[in-house]
Amino acid sequence: MTTTDQPTTTDQHEAPKNWLELEQRYDSGVYHKHQVVMTRAEGATVWDSTGREYIDCVGGYGVANVGHSNPDVVAAIREQAGNLIVMPQTLPNDKRAEFLEELVSVLPQGLDRVFLCNSGTEAVEAAKKFAITATGRTRFVSMKRGFSGRTLGALALTWEPKYREPFGAAVDNEHVTFVQYGNIEELRAAITDDVAAVIMEPVQGEGGVRPGTAEFVREARRLTREKGALLIMDEIQTGFCRTGKMFATEHFCAEQCQNADGIRCGCKVDEQCQVVPDGMTLAKAMAGGVPIGAFAMSAEVADKMPAGGHGTTFGGNPLAMAAGVAAIRFMKREELAKQAADKGAYFMEKLRAIKSSKIREVRGLGLMIGVELKEKSAPYIAALEHDEAILTLQATPLVVRFLPPLTISREQIDRVVEAFERVLTAEQ
Ligand SMILES: *Cc1c(COP(=O)(O)O)cnc(C)c1O
Repeated sequence: MTTTDQPTTTDQHEAPKNWLELEQRYDSGVYHKHQVVMTRAEGATVWDSTGREYIDCVGGYGVANVGHSNPDVVAAIREQAGNLIVMPQTLPNDKRAEFLEELVSVLPQGLDRVFLCNSGTEAVEAAKKFAITATGRTRFVSMKRGFSGRTLGALALTWEPKYREPFGAAVDNEHVTFVQYGNIEELRAAITDDVAAVIMEPVQGEGGVRPGTAEFVREARRLTREKGALLIMDEIQTGFCRTGKMFATEHFCAEQCQNADGIRCGCKVDEQCQVVPDGMTLAKAMAGGVPIGAFAMSAEVADKMPAGGHGTTFGGNPLAMAAGVAAIRFMKREELAKQAADKGAYFMEKLRAIKSSKIREVRGLGLMIGVELKEKSAPYIAALEHDEAILTLQATPLVVRFLPPLTISREQIDRVVEAFERVLTAEQ
């Protein structure tokens, strides 16, 4: 603990700033604000302005995979800030080149062309545009309970009606067919000759932490190939070691090609592979916490987009690139995917051992874990924060979701599970 965690005064006549009040007064109002002010974080620990220490199982919504203020990422940002912060993508830059090479080294072989942007929803927007130009078609197939982002184009692919309906006809999703996640018959019927792409998450995140099945993903790959549509996997939340592999799609590969070099899937996009998609949307954890997004695709897809067909001012900015190089190297060096697999198995085993009639199901992959309750999860999420100093998040009204930094310790996991058991058994 350092004294810098306390509210500071600019001079002795001024009262300490009330950050919470200021944030609530000036924010747009779209967020349900917790009644705390966070000022510092390290690894899987967060401190608020009063010095209270929390175990973080929110992880910035699945961004902080390499740990908060990861020392490698901090050093890379510091160094880069002194060299070059802004340089648009028409002007090549050393860090951007380095990042692209690093990113492609962990992607499934064949996904070696990358459009760089600044967030997940922008990655989905890019995916739509590249899919349209690559196929000359404009229809999309998306999944019920799927989440693709909040900008109008990505929102059209997002299933939850409450996210779309307030915007009426401005969310044009006449061009989208939603199918039940996992239902092969519905999927087959939906992939008509005018479909540009099928998009899905390998594990549905916002939809309640629902892992897909190898059978469904492989069938989606087979059917899209047959019909001349693209398969796009949304790895925004699942990517970068979260689920125990570099990308969650790799869980659905055939046994013999899994993790051929220990880092990435052994499949190639242009071979017999049963799952490697034509494109992947990426964001969240890719740059150690700095805003970033990307659409990674095959050359076949990229080459159909004319120069000038898409673009963004901040995409591929040197600061995010430097952070991204450090984050991906850390993931490789620390075998972060394996850490997530081992710790996730440990975490889920302990959660399953909790004796509470309030739990319906514990599910997940790696350190992407959801506990579905038989009642609303919000009171338990609030109790975890207030009584136990543990941060968790919701995914659908019944699910408590855990997305901790993958560097979380087993001792911290033990404390989270013990606390969860206490709040479940306490009188509500
Ligand atoms: C978070 C998320 C998005 C949107 O990303 P933003 O950076 O919030 O725009 C899209 N798809 C999935 C699967 C996500 O988890």
